[in-house]
Amino acid sequence: MGERILIIEDEEKLARFVEMELSYEGYTVQKAYDGRTGLALALSGDFDLVVLDIMLPGLSGMEVLRRIRRELQTPVIMLTARDTVTDKVSGLDGGADDYMTKPFEIEELLARIRNALRKTAQKRGSGQGEGRALTACGVSLDPWRHVVEFEGTHVELTKREFDLLQFLMENKGLVFSRDALLDKVWGYDYMGDTNVVDVYVRYIRSKIDDVFGIKLIHTVRGVGYMVKDEQKT
Ligand code: CA
Repeated sequence: MGERILIIEDEEKLARFVEMELSYEGYTVQKAYDGRTGLALALSGDFDLVVLDIMLPGLSGMEVLRRIRRELQTPVIMLTARDTVTDKVSGLDGGADDYMTKPFEIEELLARIRNALRKTAQKRGSGQGEGRALTACGVSLDPWRHVVEFEGTHVELTKREFDLLQFLMENKGLVFSRDALLDKVWGYDYMGDTNVVDVYVRYIRSKIDDVFGIKLIHTVRGVGYMVKDEQKT
């Protein structure tokens, strides 16, 4: 479940932190601490996106990028410690999709990852992804393009929020308990508290219901949550 992301970064602490944040968002993450290992993993073709540090032992990030690009179009986000124009230009020339200069805010990296994955999905789906959006209460969610809109206004959701809303919209009119949602959206390996569902419902409401004055996600007392299609009142 979840898109698979490969992190190639020799700063182990940073790599572990990014891994944790990405896993928390529902991505499946693997990491490599040097260029050669990272390249071998990347070339397996098992990843939807690669986060690649430029300064790596063994094989430099630029070289890893070059070799990935010989064979694959997997989106690559480069990490660099130096905010130099040269690095950016050579990285983008080498086929990187985006850039982050260290130190960076994790939220910013998450946003760029979503963006890169969305672009790939758009490329893949151009011409065939039309008319597949889910709708409820004026909200449309397009699983194919990974976009949520309310009457044409774009709503920025994190991956986990998106997955939760997608599940509820796919099953519009049905009530799900917190346990069921944890199982369906977070997956069998989730060991945390069921309160996390309430927290994410609150996040979604604060970005959609509260902003647009609609009631998209209903609380069914003693049971759980549901998305119901009803007109704005
Ligand atoms: Ca490094």
